[in-house]
Amino acid sequence: MINPIYTPAPARYDSGMKYRRCGRSGILLPEISLGLWHNFGDVNPLSDSMAMLHYAFDHGITHFDLANNYGPSYGSAEETFGIVMEKSFAPYRDELFISTKAGYDMWPGPYGNWGSRKYLMASLDQSLRRMKLDYVDLFYSHRFDPETPLEETLQALVDIVRQGKALYVGISRWPAEAARKAYSYLAERDVRCLIYQGRYNMLDRADEAGGIISEAADNGVGYIAFSPLAQGLLTDRYLNGIPEDSRIALGGHLKSDSLTPGLLESVRKLNGLAAERGQSLAEMALAWILRDRKVTSVIVGASSTSQLQRNLSALESPAFSDEELQIIDSTNP
Ligand code: NDP
Repeated sequence: MINPIYTPAPARYDSGMKYRRCGRSGILLPEISLGLWHNFGDVNPLSDSMAMLHYAFDHGITHFDLANNYGPSYGSAEETFGIVMEKSFAPYRDELFISTKAGYDMWPGPYGNWGSRKYLMASLDQSLRRMKLDYVDLFYSHRFDPETPLEETLQALVDIVRQGKALYVGISRWPAEAARKAYSYLAERDVRCLIYQGRYNMLDRADEAGGIISEAADNGVGYIAFSPLAQGLLTDRYLNGIPEDSRIALGGHLKSDSLTPGLLESVRKLNGLAAERGQSLAEMALAWILRDRKVTSVIVGASSTSQLQRNLSALESPAFSDEELQIIDSTNP
């Protein structure tokens, strides 16, 4: 059938997904969310993208993370999501928590990048059109702009909420000091920052060491981890070379020079530890992030439904012993 009518799994909230409160807010997010950075662009078969989105929602993943420039091509992941919205998810809009962002280069000229009010406002309007939505649940400043006054970027976020185009706002990859200012600027205007999105995984603990995660918690702001599998490095994907269909081989954002001997040695050691725990490295990597209750959710990427399926097993992961945590601490490359 070309356009089968999608009916979500009736047991979607009984399939093992757990939900965590996002900071001091009314919002619960699934411990595992799905990101559309890679694998959902117009270079990918629409049927595969649809299958992954359906599978996710059928298994309790209510949060989908996008950005204006996800693809490739830019904008096409939002267009893919818009098609699925129209064909499948429209009746379930109120069960979904959809985020998008602006902050990186999106269109040519001086108004399609960084953090101006002009860029953020225009970009969100474009995103809503592509995704066929009246509003997003969450809109992010995708990165801190050192040239634009912080107040301009933050006031644009406040006004976006006042206009009803986003229910909540967040910041991604902002340095610690700017993040602190953002939390107070937004709170003083009664549009609290819902969440901070940062890179956090067993190979990159900068947000933990730099206090980003704990300061978010202290301010009642949630924390959501992107690239929790280090783009695939924290899986068995590259243990025996570079597979043809992998992110590295396909020319994604992960480069082959990441695969240093030191990195591969660390990954092998972690893979061995995961095997001793009776799970895959990917499962252990996700469970390790979620061991910290200050983390609200991890945003996984997946290039197939079976990867997503396997990643959901992380929800049944055994707890970590002190000894296991020490091994992981000492395995940073
Ligand atoms: P991950 O670290 O989860 O990497 C995803 C990749 O890992 C997949 O594409 C796949 O690689 C591989 N993989 C996933 N599961 C498995 C498995 N079970 N076994 C083997 N390999 C597996 O996340 P991403 O880097 O994709 O980022 C996730 C999301 O985070 C993005 O979609 C986006 O929403 C957000 N993000 C936000 C950023 C920001 O600036 N705010 C920056 C980056 C990401 P392969 O394709 O090779 O199969």
